[in-house]
Amino acid sequence: MSDAPPRTELAVVERPEQLRELSRVWELAALRSGLVPTMGALHQGHLALIRAARSRCQRVVVSVFVNPRQFGATEDLAGYPRPLRQDLERLRSEGVDAAYCPALEVMYPPGFATEVAVRAAGSRWEAERRPGHFVGVATVMTKLLATARPEVAFLGEKDIQQVAVVTRLARDLDLGTEISVCPTVREEDGLACSSRNQRLSPEGRMAAAVLARALARTGAEFVGGQRSGDALADVAASVVAEEPRAELDYAGVVDPSDFEPAELARPSSRVMLAARVEGVRLIDNATLAQAAQLPC
Ligand code: AMP
Repeated sequence: MSDAPPRTELAVVERPEQLRELSRVWELAALRSGLVPTMGALHQGHLALIRAARSRCQRVVVSVFVNPRQFGATEDLAGYPRPLRQDLERLRSEGVDAAYCPALEVMYPPGFATEVAVRAAGSRWEAERRPGHFVGVATVMTKLLATARPEVAFLGEKDIQQVAVVTRLARDLDLGTEISVCPTVREEDGLACSSRNQRLSPEGRMAAAVLARALARTGAEFVGGQRSGDALADVAASVVAEEPRAELDYAGVVDPSDFEPAELARPSSRVMLAARVEGVRLIDNATLAQAAQLPC
């Protein structure tokens, strides 16, 4: 923003008290700050959040922390990509003001005993498939919001149940942070950008585009007149089934307010999709109106 004092170098901070101090300094200078929480391995989706933050805020913090509490025992925590040096270079070139990169034992020191449970993601889809996931998300997000004290936090629509959880917790705990939701950024073939895409072989990468095709075909069926939520969910599932490298986890068409299956589909109903490709679990979602616009 042009009226802000000149930006400084990227500050890389590793301790909560350092981040709190930065936030205090900015608040005293009446600078509006934004937070973009990430697990690193930054891609175009993250960069879109960062650019949205820069357009609305005078100071931007990006957190880079792979949060073990949001991974299940059988999930891909060890294999999660962590190219920290490259991420910091990206943050520098994006003009980010601070990177918050706490070590695991800084985030969760011995004796850590708090969990934050937010009942806002419903009981299905990611909530059902990843028990404990949203408690892990809510706990780390509470810590990040309480430490960075941003005026706005920027989250991606790609993780729509996470958006519901964080929006609810910011309100319920009176944290004073607005949650701004940014649209899903996609590759040319429609595949939603994700740090996990990096783990796919070239063949797997091509196969992964089936998720976006499934969304697109479901959107097209809706536009064609299909209004049964169940029938539309079946369309999504059948498209994924056509790709031998993909294994469907779930497909649903839901009411956006509670993530319960929608009997009567509307443009705002959301298609929820998860599948594994080469053992990598990928998720995607779109409203039926958005899905109808995706490349088939
Ligand atoms: P992650 O690093 O996967 O935890 O994601 C950090 C933030 O980036 C979350 O708010 C995600 O929803 C968001 N995000 C991830 N992928 C995308 C994408 N393709 N488009 C927009 N936002 C995304």
